[in-house]
Amino acid sequence: MRGRLPWRAARLREVRAETATARTLVFEVPGWPGHLAGQHVDVRLTAEDGYTAQRSYSLAAPPDGELVTLTVETVPDGEVSPYLTGVMEPGDQVEIRGPVGGWFVWRPAGKAPVLLVGGGSGIVPLMAMIRERRRTGSRAPFRLVYSLRDPESRYYAEELRRPDPGLDVAYLYTRAAPDGASRPAGRVTLADLAEGGWPAGFEADCYVCGPTGFVEAAADLLLTLGHAPERIRTERFGPTGG
Ligand SMILES: Cc1cc2nc3c(=O)[nH]c(=O)nc-3n(C[C@H](O)[C@H](O)[C@H](O)COP(=O)(O)OP(=O)(O)OC[C@H]3O[C@@H](n4cnc5c(N)ncnc54)[C@H](O)[C@@H]3O)c2cc1C
Repeated sequence: MRGRLPWRAARLREVRAETATARTLVFEVPGWPGHLAGQHVDVRLTAEDGYTAQRSYSLAAPPDGELVTLTVETVPDGEVSPYLTGVMEPGDQVEIRGPVGGWFVWRPAGKAPVLLVGGGSGIVPLMAMIRERRRTGSRAPFRLVYSLRDPESRYYAEELRRPDPGLDVAYLYTRAAPDGASRPAGRVTLADLAEGGWPAGFEADCYVCGPTGFVEAAADLLLTLGHAPERIRTERFGPTGG
């Protein structure tokens, strides 16, 4: 399936800083077929000597014509991410293939309550779902539990602060909580997901995304809380490439 998707030329149109280490990149991709919130793409870089490297990145925004929006965290010593976040300038080109993934998606026709659980850059596809809900005027109630190191690591900080009726956001800080935070810094717990999520009886669709360890811990906690396994969808941001 993936092998049949064509690589398309993608021209960088705009760069926005999300944090000191993360950038949102908006590409123009002629011929882009559109996508669903939650899907991802493969990005391929080609050096002058023909060497190529490719990595997966989630789509950060709903479909918008030929625009493809990604948010990339700089992995120190990484091969691809430091190039995307620190070297590329508007006008530069890469290749993009996609959209990829048919399970970790949210469709605006969905009426069930939704619980989004994101760790670090795992917020990216969840933000696409939040934006798709807003774009389509969906009434599905959403709750986001966003685990991150400290307040400075927050992606989409201003947008998530704005009122969005039907969306509740809870922040969990793992290293440094700001003054007045409702809980001390620490990893996600049962109480966090019980308070920030939906009771299991509400039959919510749960989407969990982030580093592999975070995703496994959070999905286990959701099972312990009684959420049905078939309603828990996960996406692991482990190393990719090849
Ligand atoms: C489906 C999917 C969607 C993804 N979406 C996003 C996204 O929206 N935004 C984003 O920033 N990243 C995302 N990633 C991760 C991304 O694909 C790359 O793995 C990441 O950018 C690192 O690539 P690199 O070439 O810079 O580092 P590499 O050269 O691949 O690795 C350098 C070092 O960092 C380690 N490393 C690599 N990747 C990670 C990682 N993700 N976490 C911790 N250590 C790592 C490696 O083991 C290695 O030691 C996604 C991954 C998957 C599988």
